[in-house]
Amino acid sequence: MTTQASSEHGPDILPHRPLNRARPVSRGLLSIVIPCHNEEEVIESTHRRLVAALPSTGMDFEILYIDDGSRDRTLSRLEAIAAADPRATVIELSRNFGQQSAMSAGLARARGDAVVIIDADLQDPPEVIPEMVECWRSGADVAYGRRRSREGETWFKLVTASCFHRFFASLVPYPIPVDTGDFKLLDRAVVDAVCNLPEKRRYLRSLVAWTGFRQEPVWYDRHARSAGETKYSTRKLIRLAMDAVMLSSDTPLRAAWWAAGLLATVGVGCTLLACLMPTGDRTVVLAIAAVITLAGAIQTSAVAIVGEYVVRTYREVQGRPSWVVKRTIDGESAAGAEHADHAGSRVA
Ligand code: UDP
Ligand code: MG
Repeated sequence: MTTQASSEHGPDILPHRPLNRARPVSRGLLSIVIPCHNEEEVIESTHRRLVAALPSTGMDFEILYIDDGSRDRTLSRLEAIAAADPRATVIELSRNFGQQSAMSAGLARARGDAVVIIDADLQDPPEVIPEMVECWRSGADVAYGRRRSREGETWFKLVTASCFHRFFASLVPYPIPVDTGDFKLLDRAVVDAVCNLPEKRRYLRSLVAWTGFRQEPVWYDRHARSAGETKYSTRKLIRLAMDAVMLSSDTPLRAAWWAAGLLATVGVGCTLLACLMPTGDRTVVLAIAAVITLAGAIQTSAVAIVGEYVVRTYREVQGRPSWVVKRTIDGESAAGAEHADHAGSRVA
């Protein structure tokens, strides 16, 4: 029996495109999306390494460089690359919008059956891409790069990143892989699902996980930056982490309910003790503590109730669909496909 697969959002989202479950074995188009901000020192070697590694995938490929408001000579180098190689395309953003926007701009423009997102600085080796393609061919919808090791990072960054990934995974209400960045291959269905989300402020790592398709790891060793500097100061990283949490999880607002519950429990405990103990100085202190904690519980509950409305309003404004359909198995066409199989033909 052959079934047809599709990706589809809720009723008010763009119509789905059919997804062919039998992945192209040899050809097919692979898009590479590379956000670039001030990468003049490395961008040419990145292009060389990519064009050396990609032919072994057996796919045609296009490489999309998104210049995210670089102030150095990145753009002129990219123009020279595109002039010499018809497989390269440069998308110049009008200013620096940030990596998340640059990657989203690339995804929106990519035409491939599968799309790989990779940083410009060669920390993620292009030689891992053929493995990701293999993983995709064997059925994964998302083949994400999982870091076995991370060269050239400070222990502070390693520890904070590892803690944040685990903390973040515990906050979001759907499975999200840890120790991964943006280096991953996405099937066309996943790219369409992510691009069709109407929200403007984006954290792609959790959006991809939110779509819920089949995700498989491809282990690799992350290298040190081959040239140039990281674009993320500690301040920028904290802002990104806050964005990630606020965009993807309601738990921080719901923490107010826990605080209210704790205050109420302490308040009730103090009240009971004050009633049971013989009258004296201690009962006065307990009575005062009971009044303060119970009043605090009422106020915190009020904040939590307002928070519930805020969170619901925010999620409505964010406008995500209520579901994503992976595929529809239609009884009639399945029977037709079986018949065709018996007749010896293959339905793609
Ligand atoms: N980047 C971008 N816009 C920005 C910051 C970074 O397009 O505002 C790109 C950058 O050129 C690189 C990728 O995002 O290709 C990751 O940045 P970086 O290597 O500085 O991050 P790190 O690896 O240090 O976390
Ligand atoms: Mg980097």
